Amino acid sequence: MVSGLISQETINEVATRLDIVEIINDYVPLKRQGRNLQGLCPFHQEKTPSFTVSPEKQVFYCFGCGAGGNIFTFIMQKEGLTFPEAVEKLAARAGVTVNRNEISPLQQKKLEKRDRLYRINEEAARFFQKNLFSPGPQGKQALEYLQKRAFDLETIEKFQLGLAPSQWDGLIKFFEKRGVKVQELVELGLALPNKQGTGYYDRFRNRIMFPIWDNVG
Ligand SMILES: [Zn+2]
Repeated sequence: MVSGLISQETINEVATRLDIVEIINDYVPLKRQGRNLQGLCPFHQEKTPSFTVSPEKQVFYCFGCGAGGNIFTFIMQKEGLTFPEAVEKLAARAGVTVNRNEISPLQQKKLEKRDRLYRINEEAARFFQKNLFSPGPQGKQALEYLQKRAFDLETIEKFQLGLAPSQWDGLIKFFEKRGVKVQELVELGLALPNKQGTGYYDRFRNRIMFPIWDNVG
């Protein structure tokens, strides 16, 4: 349920009151290194620290895996939260009351639709992922292909790589059973209408899938 967008003032207030060093230190012990602080990256396995936090800029960056961002993105990635959830969690810690902007019923509808499409996209990624790890020659072949290209299992899982099945309607059928309209899959670019205009087919078939989360909105 979406209940209004968190106001920019709330976000700014939380960012001003909290120190990224203190937040990250709860998860990773940091040591000062000149102007910055360093520690072992919480997002990938490493023995020498390449994870850097800048107190001046209030950002973090890992030279090993490229993870980076501010306090909000850190909490999102570390705790698996959405942006509003991360703001709420940090607001509670900072003692800031979360204000939300009033929104019109139309905006509310748009947000709900966006939310729904996002969830469908997530579910599609899980569908492709499951298919990649399913027993059978197709999944096995795809996994071997990825591993030959230096994707280890951890990376494949972390980035939710998947495999689109070879059928013309594998994904459409999967979602049909879950009450998702094919039109919604078209909006997400996951299905296409056929030339005759008589039906729809899966846009992606028999190929490796890299989920792109900014498809929505
Ligand atoms: Zn890293």
